[in-house]
Amino acid sequence: MSLRHVAVLGSTGSIGVSTLDVIRRHPDRFKVVALTAAKQIESLANQCIEFNPAIAVVSDVDGAKQLSELLRDKQLKTQVMYGADALVTAVTDSDCDTVMAAIVGAAGLVPALAAAKAGKRVLLANKEALVMSGDLFMNAMKLGGGELLPIDSEHNAIFQCLPAQFTKSPQPHLGVEELWLTASGGPFRNTPIAKLAFITPDQACAHPNWVMGRKISVDSATMMNKGLEVIEAFWLFGLPLEKIKVLIHPQSVVHSMVRYRDGSVIAQMGQPDMRTPIAYGLSWPERIDAGVGRLDLTQLAALSFSAPDHGRFPCLALAFEAAKLGGTAPTVLNAANEIAVAAFLDKGLPYLQIPVVVEHVLNQIASSPASSIEHILSVDAQARVSAHQYICQISG
Ligand code: NAD
Ligand code: MG
Repeated sequence: MSLRHVAVLGSTGSIGVSTLDVIRRHPDRFKVVALTAAKQIESLANQCIEFNPAIAVVSDVDGAKQLSELLRDKQLKTQVMYGADALVTAVTDSDCDTVMAAIVGAAGLVPALAAAKAGKRVLLANKEALVMSGDLFMNAMKLGGGELLPIDSEHNAIFQCLPAQFTKSPQPHLGVEELWLTASGGPFRNTPIAKLAFITPDQACAHPNWVMGRKISVDSATMMNKGLEVIEAFWLFGLPLEKIKVLIHPQSVVHSMVRYRDGSVIAQMGQPDMRTPIAYGLSWPERIDAGVGRLDLTQLAALSFSAPDHGRFPCLALAFEAAKLGGTAPTVLNAANEIAVAAFLDKGLPYLQIPVVVEHVLNQIASSPASSIEHILSVDAQARVSAHQYICQISG
């Protein structure tokens, strides 16, 4: 067993903190070489003091000054850097062999892509990277020669349920017929639709089963999260879109399933705790203690499954539409959603307007081939402007 050198991008977030929790349990297996955060400087400073990484990155110069001050006299080897380029440096210039890509949103794309190109083991939590640039990202992984381990719980579950020799190219003899992504249905699965108009950010972020960052929590409430995950699964596993299904499963015990030609359905189950997929990604193909409680099936009253209601969750339908259009449509969907969710969290947009903004921007910007990262980032920027303008317009 060799020591893995890990860079954690987005180390102060929900996934980042869970990643460090798993790493902390296994000092013989993992060494942290880079940590990054946007603005939570004190939390990053405490992580640096505990793990003594070679590099720590924050968003701007003020944050860097504040972090350097907090680390003064601590006798650390940590070099403090800032800005988007420094995120790439943290991946390429630290001696990491493993990168946890856990920055939220489109901001995570460029460093995740750099890790792919550099041939690292990429633990991909940042689903937005695959939604925006699935083709380029998967090619970069192939050319870089590294390993891609999905961390999103559904995709990690599917990865565990697929045969070990499964690859993206067609392998009919393996008999994989369908992927079933499970979804809890979020906090408003049964809320009368009339009441959704008055939902507050705190209500939307109160997920019944998972504790997550605020953006993905809102995405789970609208089910945009599941839509992004369908696109993510499409790129990761290479099955046609019509073979990727969504099932509402309120208990969040079955994390996803694979249906095979012979009638078998293989499911991965466990507590809704992200440390399980994170530990699996870190230690694959071995398994390590993740600090997660054992699942006691005798304590579960029932496991239930049903089809999603597209009327209640228009974001899911919009994501399927963008996935079918392909090209830059998923980039537009993602960017418009990020702006709409940020506006909702800032109390500048009612909950029910989130899909309205996304649909408007999707109709405004025609899909074009997602041919280069520069083009994707330019479409992303254009969609953000369009979403901002529309939000200003409708909020009068
Ligand atoms: P979070 O908001 O809790 O944390 C985000 C992290 O990214 C923080 O460290 C923050 O400082 C950093 N960050 C934010 N904006 C940045 C920017 N512009 N530049 C650099 N760093 C920035 O989010 P999270 O819930 O941990 O989610 C992280 C990613 O993992 C998301 O893409 C999410 O979809 C995915 N994911 C999360 C979960 C979960 O359970 N939380 C599950 C599956 C997938
Ligand atoms: Mg998920």
